[in-house]
Amino acid sequence: MNKKIWLSSPHMSGNEQPYIKEAFDSNWVAPLGPNVNGFEKDLESYLDDNKHVAALASGTSALHLSLILLGVGLGDEVICQSKTFSASANPIAYQGATPVFVDSEEDTWNMCPMQLEIAIKDRISKGRTPKAIIAVHLYGMPYKVDEINTIAKQYNIPIVEDSAESLGSQYKGQNCGTFGDFSILSFNGNKIITTSGGGALVTKSIEDKEKAVFLATQARDNAPHYLHSHIGYNYRMSNIVAGIGRGQMTILNSHVAKRRSNYEFYINALKQHTQVSFLSEPDGYFSNRWLSCILLDSKQTREGLRLALEKENIESRPLWKPMHQQPVFKDAPSYLNGVSDELFEKGLCLPSGSNLTDDELNRVISAINSYFVT
Ligand SMILES: *Cc1c(COP(=O)(O)O)cnc(C)c1O
Repeated sequence: MNKKIWLSSPHMSGNEQPYIKEAFDSNWVAPLGPNVNGFEKDLESYLDDNKHVAALASGTSALHLSLILLGVGLGDEVICQSKTFSASANPIAYQGATPVFVDSEEDTWNMCPMQLEIAIKDRISKGRTPKAIIAVHLYGMPYKVDEINTIAKQYNIPIVEDSAESLGSQYKGQNCGTFGDFSILSFNGNKIITTSGGGALVTKSIEDKEKAVFLATQARDNAPHYLHSHIGYNYRMSNIVAGIGRGQMTILNSHVAKRRSNYEFYINALKQHTQVSFLSEPDGYFSNRWLSCILLDSKQTREGLRLALEKENIESRPLWKPMHQQPVFKDAPSYLNGVSDELFEKGLCLPSGSNLTDDELNRVISAINSYFVT
């Protein structure tokens, strides 16, 4: 059997171990320490020096804290892009609130501004003004930031920017992860950089960062004994994990370059197949191409190709199944135009790691070529 080719596997740089060794040597083996502070600084320098970053246990915990800081609670409604990973929507349920799903548009596959406005107007007419909007830059492609911002401003609804898949992407020259009232990042094992597991919350003010860190460290009030006037969480990143993050930050740009070159490779290698199409970057958009996604001409072709790749020990995966189709969210209100359903039927993510070799990429192409020949 050929060696397995993964969709997106961790890619260490070799610069991580010294930070981890330093943590052991100085006994900072805790959810605080110099690597945590250093990783936060590295992310702030990378994203925007005017932003504040809190390193957390996961992207999901960062989303959860965003909603808490925005005052989302029992019975509230929060708008969420339907086409996304479930972690975008689950924290809405943690707060006892209801997700309201909004479909995608075809230019970026992200939240459709028209559907968003329809949804907001309809919720308001029912006396249920949404408390927040969770918009996602899927697979690294920025959402329509200007359009979504304009609508959110008009109705005075804050935006939580889910940038879990888009560290290294830009919209009109500005980094993704800096557009929301709150923004979140993920460093899970399959993301563009990884700390094994981890995430971050990006805030506009130092006060919001401090509130997030307070909640993430069990909401301990200022007293010599353990005193609590709020419900707290254990959501802080460990100093060991942050050491991996510091090492990963040294190669983030080269990971972006490699992922983008994977994408270009697939476009060139597959151009003779009329059944295959790609999502191009609109003007002013820069995608980190976290995952290389293709659209096939039908659901049958997509599933046939997925199985053909699996036979060759090559991992591929259908695009995210929209949240409005998930059994767990079947009762949630949804504003749909058919785009995310069609993308789910016809879309496939190909192996996309920054550690893929030329041989591996060529194996993927041979497998796809044989599928289309037979
Ligand atoms: C990975 C991911 C998350 C969750 O991040 P974790 O660090 O795994 O908790 C949230 N949203 C999207 C779109 C993701 O891809």
